[in-house]
Amino acid sequence: MVLSIDDIIKLEQIASEELERLQKEIAGSGDEVAAISPDKAIGRLSRLDAMQMQQVAKAAQRRREDRVTALQNALDRIDSGRFGQCELCKEWISLDRLKAQPEASRCGDCAG
Ligand SMILES: [Zn+2]
Repeated sequence: MVLSIDDIIKLEQIASEELERLQKEIAGSGDEVAAISPDKAIGRLSRLDAMQMQQVAKAAQRRREDRVTALQNALDRIDSGRFGQCELCKEWISLDRLKAQPEASRCGDCAG
């Protein structure tokens, strides 16, 4: 199914809002990801805890950054009129799928 202009406007809005939300989250979680100061007077176990929490925070941050990139790519595709088609089979990606995940570049069948 070819997307209508209204659909594309709606999806662009969803993608932009999601992008803004993620960028705020990324900006707000800088402290969690910040390096643990080696001279901080914490015990060895709490240091391990802190390092583990830092790893978790870093992984979450990386996922946010990946999604930001994917959403920016989706907005580029909207601008260039290549939005909504599966990159593999070239079929149209369903509107429901795009609403849930505007950055999707593959249809439900190809996403595996
Ligand atoms: Zn496909």
